[in-house]
Amino acid sequence: MLIHEMKIQECRDALAQASLARLACEMDGQPYAVPVYLVYDGNYLFGFSTLGFKIDCMRANPLVCVEIDDVKSQHEWMCVLVFGSYEELPDTPENEAARARAHELLKKRAMWWEPACVVHRDYPRSLAPIFYRIHIDRMTGHRASPDPVEVHPAPPAKPRSLLSRSLGRVLPK
Ligand SMILES: Cc1cc2nc3c(=O)[nH]c(=O)nc-3n(C[C@H](O)[C@H](O)[C@H](O)COP(=O)(O)OP(=O)(O)OC[C@H]3O[C@@H](n4cnc5c(N)ncnc54)[C@H](O)[C@@H]3O)c2cc1C
Repeated sequence: MLIHEMKIQECRDALAQASLARLACEMDGQPYAVPVYLVYDGNYLFGFSTLGFKIDCMRANPLVCVEIDDVKSQHEWMCVLVFGSYEELPDTPENEAARARAHELLKKRAMWWEPACVVHRDYPRSLAPIFYRIHIDRMTGHRASPDPVEVHPAPPAKPRSLLSRSLGRVLPK
């Protein structure tokens, strides 16, 4: 398998095609990662949520990491990591344009609001809508492809039974 560093434009193209991401944040040093839908726009990823632990985490520490990938096989895959910071977009006049842009992009996916609004019966919470964006500080992408000249190693040998090991010791080679 060969691993290639993706160019920034390749990372941008991959982000533009992806919608499901893994969003990693932290609280008091404990990492927390959840799947979320995000949409890519220039230097931002826009998302929609309701109140809950990930929002608590990002309010406490806005630094986040976002992962997207496309795995065709063990030898053929692509993965992009985005390092950035969380910005909530409350319903205020100065956020009007950013919220409108987020809504315009997110609503391209049918029922775009639904995953954020499903309430677990053990974790009741407010359903007040939260639009947010991740400012992209930097990103890296790796793409793997099968190595045409790679010699695939033989599978590990089956462990020999006690009998065959004992016979191996006493029988002539
Ligand atoms: C395909 C997909 C797309 C999604 N898209 C979105 C989206 O766009 N926006 C959005 O807000 N949510 C989305 N979700 C749901 C998201 O993954 C979280 O479950 C949800 O947002 C609640 O997260 P929270 O931090 O607010 O948890 P809380 O409601 O505060 O949950 C409390 C506890 O439940 C556990 N928990 C929470 N989420 C999960 C999980 N996914 N798996 C296992 N344990 C969990 C954690 O231990 C957490 O501390 C999506 C889920 C999937 C599977």
